[in-house]
Amino acid sequence: MKQEQILIHISGQDRVGLTASIMEVLAKYDAQILDLGQAVIHNTLTLGILIRIGEENSGQVMKELLFKTTAWGSISIGFEPITDDDYEAWAGRQGRNRYILTIIGRSLSAAQIQAATDVISRYGLNIDAIKRLTGRMSIMHPERNVRACVEFSLRGFLSAEDKEAMQKDLMQMGQEHGTDFSFQKDNIYRRMRRLICFDMDSTLIQAECIDELARRHGVYDQVAAITESAMRGEIDFKESFTKRVALLKGLDISVMQDIADHLPITEGTDRLMSVLKTCGYKIAILSGGFTFFGEYLQRKYSIDYVYANELEVGEDGKLTGRYVGEVVDGRRKADLLKLIAQAEKVNLEQTIAVGDGANDLPMLNEAGLGIAFHAKPRVKAGAKQSISTIGLDGVLYFIGFKDSQLGEHGVL
Ligand SMILES: [Mg+2]
Repeated sequence: MKQEQILIHISGQDRVGLTASIMEVLAKYDAQILDLGQAVIHNTLTLGILIRIGEENSGQVMKELLFKTTAWGSISIGFEPITDDDYEAWAGRQGRNRYILTIIGRSLSAAQIQAATDVISRYGLNIDAIKRLTGRMSIMHPERNVRACVEFSLRGFLSAEDKEAMQKDLMQMGQEHGTDFSFQKDNIYRRMRRLICFDMDSTLIQAECIDELARRHGVYDQVAAITESAMRGEIDFKESFTKRVALLKGLDISVMQDIADHLPITEGTDRLMSVLKTCGYKIAILSGGFTFFGEYLQRKYSIDYVYANELEVGEDGKLTGRYVGEVVDGRRKADLLKLIAQAEKVNLEQTIAVGDGANDLPMLNEAGLGIAFHAKPRVKAGAKQSISTIGLDGVLYFIGFKDSQLGEHGVL
């Protein structure tokens, strides 16, 4: 029996049992399903079914489907024959060249989506699917719309140079339109990340602990002057760190406890941590700050690893102005990420790093997914992904989570 392909497209008002009813007709005539896809926006459905069916049945199938949908009203149906050659050419184009582009903002405008789709088409990529990852927007309560995210599934070949150029164009798009984005290869690792390493100061918390300590000890100006001198490149990180810690000599440990009790936690941290723990992620804090605060956060969020700098405390319960052990700097953060991944038997592709500072760049570049978080332009430019418009839970969208799978404060 000669077979032919027919693409059926159905659109209109969604109703319960619509797909089942269509399939009942197709089943009766023993149609083979070659492809199937459906999207619902508001209450309107678009359903596409590509079937292969015996030639002598195709007329009857189309007739029955037409009767059914006409009886429902407000549903339109169309049929398109697909030749064997056209079908085979289409099937042959499937491959591993798939990418995911995720776009985030407080809300998303047509201009932002236009800029993103413009970059996509400029590099000859096809959009296979578009998904909204954030919850439905309210127009009556705009204050509830705190984030918006759309994910594009893309197909096409990009050379290494094209990929780099596209990354740059996306970066420019992000800057011009205030959009965060991630552009990732769509491979098995994307949905199987296992380890996440966070910077602490100005990433998990909205503070620089050394500045807080200096403020409480009356040495803020001196500490700030050393920080600036290090930022100008006049002294290296270790030297500046040693000098700043020395200025804290005599500070009572109770002051540190008080600061810890009032740490301003970054927006979205509770939600992010709750989801990551539920999903079995290993979580690490890799910080150039102090273990005292890292361990406080470790207890609060059941964090698996904390590597930071240990301030020496004298018998009188006051800081001695010295630190204990090796200083955690940018290189050490990247090395620790690799070491923890090794210990946890996690492929580097399965790691995520999040940080705001220049000393986070080595670990952001080492990780499978490196995210600059509310970072300065120089750090952002050095990272492949960045989040600057929303809170830390934006990381969840880069991993592919949807709000409909999550609660406002974590996993439902
Ligand atoms: Mg930081």
